[in-house]
Amino acid sequence: MKRLKLHHWILLGLFLGLVTGVLLQLWVPPASASSPPGAYTALVKFMEFCGRVFMRLLQMIIIPLVVGSIVVGTAGLGDLRRLGRLGARVLVYYTLTTALAVILGLAWANTVKPGLFMSSQARDELVRSMGSQERVRQIEPPKIEDLLVGLVPRNPFRSITDGDMLPIIVFSILFGVGITVIAPPKARFMINFFDGVTDVSVALVELIMKTAPVGVWALMGLVVARIGLEVLKPLLIFSLVVLAGLASQVALVYTLSLRVLGRVKPWEFFRRIPEAMLVAFSTSSSSATLPVSIKVAEKELGIPERVAGFVLPLGATINMDGTALYQGVVTVFLAQLFGHDLTLGNQLTIVLTATLASIGAAGVPSAGIITLLVVLRSVGLSPEGIAIILGVDRILDMCRTMVNVCGDLVATRYVYAAESRSGDVETVVLLDSDRGTGE
Ligand code: ASP
Repeated sequence: MKRLKLHHWILLGLFLGLVTGVLLQLWVPPASASSPPGAYTALVKFMEFCGRVFMRLLQMIIIPLVVGSIVVGTAGLGDLRRLGRLGARVLVYYTLTTALAVILGLAWANTVKPGLFMSSQARDELVRSMGSQERVRQIEPPKIEDLLVGLVPRNPFRSITDGDMLPIIVFSILFGVGITVIAPPKARFMINFFDGVTDVSVALVELIMKTAPVGVWALMGLVVARIGLEVLKPLLIFSLVVLAGLASQVALVYTLSLRVLGRVKPWEFFRRIPEAMLVAFSTSSSSATLPVSIKVAEKELGIPERVAGFVLPLGATINMDGTALYQGVVTVFLAQLFGHDLTLGNQLTIVLTATLASIGAAGVPSAGIITLLVVLRSVGLSPEGIAIILGVDRILDMCRTMVNVCGDLVATRYVYAAESRSGDVETVVLLDSDRGTGE
């Protein structure tokens, strides 16, 4: 028998999680879950244990991996001009693909008009049954000035212990720049040290991923058992519009970007990334998926560490096309639901604010909901509307996180293709598309 690959096992875990979740729901329906039987509680506890351990294993490795790979990536560029060029290339690409994602989301929401499919009664019923308005009121939208000032860490070790990714990235880039200006023997030593940290982290990720099928089973099962597929029903059209938007971002923007900018056959690329996609889906977190994305980029796509180690950590923190698209759809959906007309100017404002809000969102579950408040506010919508979509948010979060991570991986291919054309990184031939066209 052909041996199953890791991503087949993960897929199996995902499927079994779905089945377990549905069975748990049938066993004890959520409405009567106040005093569940002992065996039920024990199984849920066991799943929570497995899910939490898996998430923590992934999270544990993020900081050494990010710090190591960014320091090596930046120092390896050798000079500030090259860093500036690479940085500018990545930032422009990230911003453009995110803005395109919002535009796609708006196009879908304005065409299908999901908000007109739900009666105001259904809307009020949904808000009441979720009892979630209180939760929404407690969410504080972040201020743009604070986000900017917060980029610079007052104490990098504090940022590390708090897990604040952006300041950690800024510090690691500056540290890498510092290495390029010190005397060569010491610089070599520092690069070797951080290179070692990165390699050890990647090796650990490979080990951790062996537990992924169980972790994914547990996480998936818990989501289905808690939320149930029931909540999807009243919000079905809205959810379908989000999914259609996400699918078109992949089918249009990413496929085109891979073909034209990345010079690779899209299918050849997509079939090498399922491991990262499955982890993104089950953890709902770009940050937690980062170690796996780096491994996939290097081992499956042949992207050199210097590119993957720079582009992916940045992407996991600031490039969230799926989140931006989602925020665009939600805003139009709620406007339709509340009979609030959005002008063309409003829609442009949404493109701008959703792009910024997705940059500000952390790569953790439900982060997009918090920065969504900024978008709603920018067009005069009440934040309480979010209560309506909270029920389906988790499931859609899993889907948009996949797109967020996919977008980051597509970006590494583009940057790699561009840099290797200009001779700035070594060409590694792993994909068929690179054969024959290689130098
Ligand atoms: N969960 C998403 C991510 O980690 C962020 C969000 O949209 O909530 O990429």
